[in-house]
Amino acid sequence: MPPRSDLAGRPAAPGLAIGPVVRLAKSMAARRSSGDPMQETEDLLAAIEAAIADLATLTETAGEDGAGILEFQVAMLEDEALREPALAVIAAGAAADAAWRQAVEIQIAEYETAGEEYFQARTADLTDLRDRVLGHLAGMGDEAPPPSGAVLVAEDLTPSRFLATDWTGGGAIALAASSPTSHVAMLARSRRVPMVVGLGAAILDGGTEAIVDGSAGTVWLDPPAAAKDEFRRRRAAMEAVERAAEATVRQPAVTRGGVPIAVLINLADPAELGRIDPAICDGVGLVRTEFLFHGGGLPDEARQVAAYSRIVAWAQGRPVTIRTLDAGGDKPIPGLTVDGESNPFLGTRGIRLSLARPGPFRIQLRALARAAVHGPLKIMIPMVTVPAEMAAAGRMLDDAVAELTAAGIPARRPPLGMMVEVPAAALAIDRFVADFLSIGSNDLTQYVTAAARDTGAVADLADPGNPAVLRLIAEVAAAGARQGIEVSLCGDMAGDPAFVPALLRAGLRSLSMAPAAVARTKAAIAAADLGA
Ligand code: PEP
Ligand code: MG
Repeated sequence: MPPRSDLAGRPAAPGLAIGPVVRLAKSMAARRSSGDPMQETEDLLAAIEAAIADLATLTETAGEDGAGILEFQVAMLEDEALREPALAVIAAGAAADAAWRQAVEIQIAEYETAGEEYFQARTADLTDLRDRVLGHLAGMGDEAPPPSGAVLVAEDLTPSRFLATDWTGGGAIALAASSPTSHVAMLARSRRVPMVVGLGAAILDGGTEAIVDGSAGTVWLDPPAAAKDEFRRRRAAMEAVERAAEATVRQPAVTRGGVPIAVLINLADPAELGRIDPAICDGVGLVRTEFLFHGGGLPDEARQVAAYSRIVAWAQGRPVTIRTLDAGGDKPIPGLTVDGESNPFLGTRGIRLSLARPGPFRIQLRALARAAVHGPLKIMIPMVTVPAEMAAAGRMLDDAVAELTAAGIPARRPPLGMMVEVPAAALAIDRFVADFLSIGSNDLTQYVTAAARDTGAVADLADPGNPAVLRLIAEVAAAGARQGIEVSLCGDMAGDPAFVPALLRAGLRSLSMAPAAVARTKAAIAAADLGA
């Protein structure tokens, strides 16, 4: 068969990669969560047993030092304190992989905030055994887990499947469907995994090797030697540009005319923290807590306090904006979100869900107020539509702080801000009372253009550069200036150099983006000329 020329899709995460093609069956791409807690429990316990067996084999050849480390890992895997919380989350309806990830990451957060070097040094072991068990879970069924460095090809991919994959050796994603604003695309950008979406059915058959150009949105199946040479040249050039940008990534962002711009990062997964130097940013502009508690209800208050405190400690005095749970829409949480809505993006999502289910919301507010004692934490409310929602959230936060104080538990009332991502809020922003604003351009774009963010067929319409979206952004920036409150933007366009000039011209002076986008965005800011 002659070599296939490029398949064109949509760029979803920049970068260039070459690797062996691994096609994921539908069940694999979406990890075959059976939906049956008994089956998921069985799968998790089998994966833990398989991980223990691996470690036992490794111990035989590991030498004395190595054996000590592996024995510690085996002891952790056998410890009820790790598996019990995971099993409880499965019982509440979560998938085995999501439940395991959540349980281990909470433990990692506890170790990291323990303040004792011994525990802090053990977090790498926990990460290792987390991934080992996830690897076994991913490999269950009829397919082996993809090798590191593979190009994953599928119809679509879920965030949990992405998180269960080992990306340390490179690799890329090429999908027949999906959209650049899906949550898995966000994860790919933050982990620097090149990704192309909307390639159509042609990507699903044939091909053993592929070049993925996540910046151009193309995939070359079975590339000829000339294409591989060209790939190597382009990758070397791209790496040189990245190195140049990385050299200045720790310097503050300023425009060509000397206007300082705050550059913050978005966090979707606490596992990212270990790989990021806080000196590259002016703080955290968005923590997506639904990813932090991936897929299986909310952990209890103490665990949330540990998770939030860990981010505050990591930021070393820089501001950290934590968004309350934005479940619903394309981010269902079994047992919490409302099933069967005909249009979940227009349904019980974000603050609507939090006010409808005040129990978990109250626990989250208490945990945030407790973690705020450790540094400049701010709380942000998602999907606000009317001023009454902000007022209700503010009252619940006041009550939470009062309760904690009365019980003698250290707490502080953090500033309370709102995401501006619903057109009704953007158009009437002066009616709202908030300590700060952050524009969620991903949702604002989908609601203004009436084009779902996860539907490839309308992805061209869901364009954040649409003049209607840019006009609303400028109006919100102006309203913030009038009210003397900070306005940031934390949607994906903040980290896209093509949009940076327009956002600065719209009046924004604070942008929050995926960590991987910081270097290139600072470079785009340095090149931006705002005129006199
Ligand atoms: C947004 O909508 O722009 C946003 C930042 O939130 P999310 O993408 O998590 O909905
Ligand atoms: Mg949003």
